[in-house]
Amino acid sequence: MIAGGDTPLTHKLRAEIEASPSRSISVERYMRLCLYDPEHGYYSRSDILGTTGDFITAPEISQVFGELIGLWCGAVWQQIGSPSMLSLVEFGPGRGTLMADILRVAQRVPGFAPALRVHLVETSPRLAAIQTLTLKSHTDVVIASDWPAPEDLAPGPVILIGNEFVDALPIDQFVFQNGAWRLRGVALTDDGGFTFVAGDGTYPGIATSATPCDGDVLETSSAGHALSRYISGLVLKQRPVAALFIDYGHTETTFGDTLQGVRDHHHVSPFTRPGETDLSSQVDFAALGRALQASGFGLGTTVVEPLTTQAEFLGRLGIVERASRLMAANPDRAGDIEAGVARLLAPNGMGTRFKVIALRSGIATALPGLA
Ligand code: SAH
Repeated sequence: MIAGGDTPLTHKLRAEIEASPSRSISVERYMRLCLYDPEHGYYSRSDILGTTGDFITAPEISQVFGELIGLWCGAVWQQIGSPSMLSLVEFGPGRGTLMADILRVAQRVPGFAPALRVHLVETSPRLAAIQTLTLKSHTDVVIASDWPAPEDLAPGPVILIGNEFVDALPIDQFVFQNGAWRLRGVALTDDGGFTFVAGDGTYPGIATSATPCDGDVLETSSAGHALSRYISGLVLKQRPVAALFIDYGHTETTFGDTLQGVRDHHHVSPFTRPGETDLSSQVDFAALGRALQASGFGLGTTVVEPLTTQAEFLGRLGIVERASRLMAANPDRAGDIEAGVARLLAPNGMGTRFKVIALRSGIATALPGLA
């Protein structure tokens, strides 16, 4: 039995585990099936985001978030010399709310909106359909599940953005046992539930600054390397790049199991109702920063900006002033606007748990809000 009962995906997972020679699958594979199985995966579901879904994100909480990111993009465009074309690629756009807010505010930066060539990278067909609806007044937005090849982007500079994208990508976990790191897997219990197991193989290449104890878990993600490879393809062509990723996580690589299930705005075991529960993990910003830095080949043209909290970043971009103006113009919504902004900035909540990592390549001065 498993927590909350079986789902259609439970049977598929059991079959794959039973067919595997080790009688287990890696945590990465477990996450991948739970999130992306085309029939029963979490992202094939319809309403996962927002107040009525399982979790709520910054752009869904307040329009001010997307407006400030939009003005940030406009300021970067000006910093690069207001080129006639600029590709804006958003990874994991959810309901398309962030991009809608960006594109609305882009109109207010003279010349910026016509220069924009927008690409959304989305694996979920359901969410892609919602994005199409949200952005229906912008006919030239390209939505695809594959990352756009550099040659498919307009010539010139590129801005990459992603909010709560990296946390959604599958991770590997290693567990320290009897003096060695082992790949952590998911196996079956006698009554057909799921449990974590330590794999047979050892992974001597894992270097950590702290000394691990038995049972310690270390997580690795290929997301940073994938983004880094993508960015290096642009750097090689000498295209200016600015990247901005906002997510929750820790500043240092530490031991700990951060894989979590989220259902109906509550944390649950990652084994609860597979395919109907969101799975994510905390981003290791130290590792992500190292991976992003590598995209510059050590040529000195690529800089990863100092890591900033969401509250600091939005504060520097003028969130308080912007919210006050919006409240004055919409007195009937003032309470909601204030509450939303307070939530984004909360010192013991999103304001500090969420962090902003940014990279610039071929751009001489620091990106707005990060210095
Ligand atoms: N950025 C949005 C949504 C965050 S949820 C917001 O802030 O509201 C994570 C998003 O990433 C969803 O849109 C999900 O479908 C998408 N996603 C998850 N894995 C992905 C992948 N491998 N490639 C592209 N998009 C992915």
